[in-house]
Amino acid sequence: MRDFAQDHRWLSINTATVRKQHGVEQSLPDILEACAQRGIRAVSPWRDQVAAAGLDNISRLVKTHGLELSGYCRGGMFPAVDAAGVRAAADDNRRAVDEACALNAACLVLVVGGLPGALTGKALHKDIARSRSQVHDGIAALLEYAKANHMPLAIEPLHPMYAADRACINTLEHALDVCDALDPASTGALGVAVDVYHVWWDPKLQAQIARAGKERLLAFHVCDWLTPTTDLLNDRGMMGDGVIDIPKIRDWVEAQGFAGYSEVEIFSTSNWWQRGSGEVLDTCIARHKTVV
Ligand code: ZN
Repeated sequence: MRDFAQDHRWLSINTATVRKQHGVEQSLPDILEACAQRGIRAVSPWRDQVAAAGLDNISRLVKTHGLELSGYCRGGMFPAVDAAGVRAAADDNRRAVDEACALNAACLVLVVGGLPGALTGKALHKDIARSRSQVHDGIAALLEYAKANHMPLAIEPLHPMYAADRACINTLEHALDVCDALDPASTGALGVAVDVYHVWWDPKLQAQIARAGKERLLAFHVCDWLTPTTDLLNDRGMMGDGVIDIPKIRDWVEAQGFAGYSEVEIFSTSNWWQRGSGEVLDTCIARHKTVV
């Protein structure tokens, strides 16, 4: 396993980690500058923040600061109740691939979606199998486009508590089943994002990481699982403050040959978003060296 104790060469910051300090939206250009000032080499930005600042502008800033993108957040949200909705999702996902290419991202992360309508408060049906089928078909179609544009797609299995509203792929095993069905040769065009927050509890985790292998391990996300967790979405912990044995999981991932960034992704309304972004980034660097 790589030694992270000496420096933070392999630290990436998912920009959501520092986007809402004291409840105020931080601009992506400011976040990029704060990262660059600290010698952070990679980020993973969100589409809405890129759109707000302008794709060309962000593309230029990324180059100016010498940053890489460990991933681009995010594509997915495939399920819909009708053909028009499915088409709209497909169109939007192709645009996400285009943006990821413009920013030279390592991969486009897919949060695949759950029951249509659930995210905005009212699920329009209860047929999760139908959603999973639409996800399968949506990824299949997008994969053709992504391959033609040389942009790897990383399916991120989300913790089962998000099955209704955010992602109906909830285990690494399920994500890899989709990969095997759509990319049986394991070409590197389709793989997974392993986020310790979502998968740490899984008794099959080590075996499924081994099954994924180097070709399918496209991204590695870290934060921590707090006890108690007070919010299902926005109470993620800083690495070292919770119950996840992060070095053990990193060891499993790197044993397969993964040599990319360790991306910090923390949504934290009541703690880390209540601090200055400088303090948060400095803490990420310190914890990256000691507990990741
Ligand atoms: Zn993640």
